[in-house]
Amino acid sequence: MNLSTLVLLALAAGMTFGAIWHEAFPTWVEPLNIYLLAPLGQAFVRLIQFVVVPIVFSSLILALTRIPNASQVGRYTAKLLLGYILTSILAVGLGIVAAMVIHPGTAAMDLSPTQLPAQAPETDLIAWLVGLIPTNPLEALASGNLLQTIFASALFAIGIQQAGIGARPFVASIESIYIISEKILGLILYLAPVGVFALMSSVIAVQGISFVGQLLTYMVGVVLAILLMIGFYGLMLGIWQAKPLHFFRSFAPSFTLAFGTASSNAALPVALQNAREHYGLSPTIASLAIPLGTALKRDGMAVGQGFNALFVAQLYDVPLTPSLLLAVVLSTLLVSFSTAGVPGAGIVMMATIFTASGLPLEAVAILAGVDRLMDSFHTLLNVVGNTAHAVMLERWEPQPSVAPLQVLPVTPEVDRL
Ligand code: ASP
Repeated sequence: MNLSTLVLLALAAGMTFGAIWHEAFPTWVEPLNIYLLAPLGQAFVRLIQFVVVPIVFSSLILALTRIPNASQVGRYTAKLLLGYILTSILAVGLGIVAAMVIHPGTAAMDLSPTQLPAQAPETDLIAWLVGLIPTNPLEALASGNLLQTIFASALFAIGIQQAGIGARPFVASIESIYIISEKILGLILYLAPVGVFALMSSVIAVQGISFVGQLLTYMVGVVLAILLMIGFYGLMLGIWQAKPLHFFRSFAPSFTLAFGTASSNAALPVALQNAREHYGLSPTIASLAIPLGTALKRDGMAVGQGFNALFVAQLYDVPLTPSLLLAVVLSTLLVSFSTAGVPGAGIVMMATIFTASGLPLEAVAILAGVDRLMDSFHTLLNVVGNTAHAVMLERWEPQPSVAPLQVLPVTPEVDRL
C-alpha cells in the first residue's frame, strides 16, 4: 500500500478509536492521551520537522545556484506572489459567499465557549519585513523561520555563484546534506501511519464527537467551501494543461499528511519529494516555490476565516455592512500571509481578524472547540494551493532555462563552476 492510503486508513482508524475510547472509557481518556497518544503524535511531527530546514536550505541553494541570473529568481517570486494574492482574495471571498448562502449561524443558537479567547498578536508590517533578514545564517536555520531560511539560502546561492571554483567543496557538502536528509525523511515516513493515528485519536478521544452538535451546519459549510476551492485549483490546473489528476495523485501523500498533522510545515518535505519524484516538477521551481508557499500561502485559512467572520456576524446579529466585509477581506488577506504552518495557528489569527473587523472577540472561544478538526481541512487546502501554484508557475515558464538539478553522484557537476 502506498503512503497516502496508509495515512488515510490511519486517519479513519484514529477517529474511530478516539470516538469509542471517549464513550467507553471516559476516565481513561486523560492518562491515555497524556502518556501515549499526545507524545506519540508530537514525536512524529517533531521528527518530520527535523528534516524541514536541512531539506529547504540544501535544495534551495542547489536550485538557485543553477539559475543563471538573479532576475529569473525575481521573476519566479513575483509571479508566485501575484498568484498568491489573486487566489487568496478568491479564497476569502468564497468563504464569505459560502457563509452567506449556507447561513450557519443564527442569533438563537445557544453555544457555550470552550476555551478562553486567544490574544490578538501585535502586527507591525515594517518590523516584519525587516525581520525577514536574518542577522545570522545559523540563527535563521536554528529558529526554523522559513522566510529567513529562504533569504539565507538565496544569499548563499549568490555567494556561491560569485565564488566560482572556491565554492565547490561547500556545494558538495550541501549536496550531501540534501541526500542524507532525504534518506532520513524516507525513514521517518514509515512512522507516518502511527503518528497520524495518534494525532487523530488524541483529538477525538479528548473531545468526543458530541462537540459537532449545533456546529454541524457550520462544519459542513466550511468543508464544502474548502472542497470548492480545491475544485477551483483542479480547474485551473486543467486550464493550464498541468494534468490535474496526475497532480492530485502525485501530491496525495503530502495532502494526507497535511490533513493528519494539521501542519503545512510538516507536509513540506513530503511535498518537495512528491513534486520531484511523482509529479516531475522542475526541481528548481519546486525548491523555490514550495518552501515560499509553505511560509506564505494559506488558502484554507482564508476560506475558513472568511466563513468564520460571517458565521459570527450572523450569530451576534451584526449587520453586514460593506465596511465590515471589506475589513474581513483585508484583515484575512494580510493575516493569512503571516500565519505559521503549525497546528492551531489559525485560531490566534482569528482573534486578530475579529478585532480588526469589530466582531466580538469572545466568539473565538465558541469556535475553539471545533478548530482542531477544521484545521485539518484548512491545512489540506493550504498545501493544495501552495503546490498548485508551484505547478502553475512551471506552466507559466514554458521554456526551462536552467539545467535540471542532479543530486547524484555526490561529487557534483556544478555547471557554472
Ligand atoms: N495549521 C495550518 C497550517 O499548518 C495553519 C492554520 O492554522 O491555518 O497550514
